[in-house]
Amino acid sequence: MRAFVDADSVVELTRALVAVDTQNPPGDEREVLGVCRDMLDPLGATFEEFEPAPGRASLLATVGTGDRPVLIVNGHLDVVPVHRPGWTRDPFGGEIDDGKLYGRGTADMKGGIAAAVEALYTLRRAGREPACDIAFHLVADEERGGGYGTRALVESGKVAGAACLVPEPTGMALCVAERGLFVADLIVHGRPAHGSEPRNGISAVEEAAKVVLALHAADFGGPEHQLLGRPTCNIGMINGGTGHNTVAERCVLKVDRRLLPGDTAASAEASVRALVDAIGDPDLRYDIEMEVFGEASELDPSHPFVAQLQAAASAVLGEAVPVIGMRFTTDARFVRNQAGIASVVCGPGEIAQAHINDEWVEVARLVDAAAVYAELFSTFSG
Ligand SMILES: [Zn+2]
Repeated sequence: MRAFVDADSVVELTRALVAVDTQNPPGDEREVLGVCRDMLDPLGATFEEFEPAPGRASLLATVGTGDRPVLIVNGHLDVVPVHRPGWTRDPFGGEIDDGKLYGRGTADMKGGIAAAVEALYTLRRAGREPACDIAFHLVADEERGGGYGTRALVESGKVAGAACLVPEPTGMALCVAERGLFVADLIVHGRPAHGSEPRNGISAVEEAAKVVLALHAADFGGPEHQLLGRPTCNIGMINGGTGHNTVAERCVLKVDRRLLPGDTAASAEASVRALVDAIGDPDLRYDIEMEVFGEASELDPSHPFVAQLQAAASAVLGEAVPVIGMRFTTDARFVRNQAGIASVVCGPGEIAQAHINDEWVEVARLVDAAAVYAELFSTFSG
């Protein structure tokens, strides 16, 4: 299959997507939808647009006959912001140097989307037909939580299919599980006094220090997840007190807790409270205000879709690819958890190449990905 992939074509498709600025924030995916339509139109795609807020547009493009199982390809069109002084390449230029294609979104994940589109052209060149209908969900807002993109699509009932491929950068490994995220302010309340008499008050800074130690030392219990390891807790920020000569009345800790499948926002908060309460200090008074929650998700690695994708990867790459878990979240969680559709994240580029200055993807890996996807499309029958 790899011989039928046109490397120039997949590079041009990636470049066309990268050339349109879709930095999020602020987030504006409307213009790039035209590029997506242009690349899918010759394949006979039918289109539907979804725009829950002005400019926050997603494209649903289906290539197929309407009477076969549907394989969803979910890819986000937004990219993280570019900090120009840190770049030595044009972030929107798609320059190639030494086999690497440079630009914001080349790895995360316009290259993956381009490879999936190229897969259909590859099949055409090979004289083969997809065994399934392909529904491209090219979405807004993944980088800021998916509220205008995949989450909104799922909530509106527009996400239906037999399985879902998410070509985010995994080095073509098959990612079937993602940890969840709970971010909150933990606000510690003290009682102010003169700084020369600290025992006349209760220092929120002192109490907060006990909380930091307790949470960083925490064992959240339960067995280790095979692919995701153990849950963790990091206090990434601390802010308290008003001056050296006053016993601090307030101290705010930014809690970042990473979660395993099954954890809810309520259970995440309860686990933090249990650890803080276990300190057993009657002077320790606090509130927790949740800021972000994204649940973990997983697909059973023995699910047939994992085997089908593994077979396609092995056929093209000559060896099996690893089945992995990732420590952060993608839109796959909405498709797995809310839509109940088997989803695997598998794409060209490494996660270490995402979100960096001078982001790049290897052209050879774009070709690999297009060939693997073409193999999958020609064999997937639900
Ligand atoms: Zn991404």
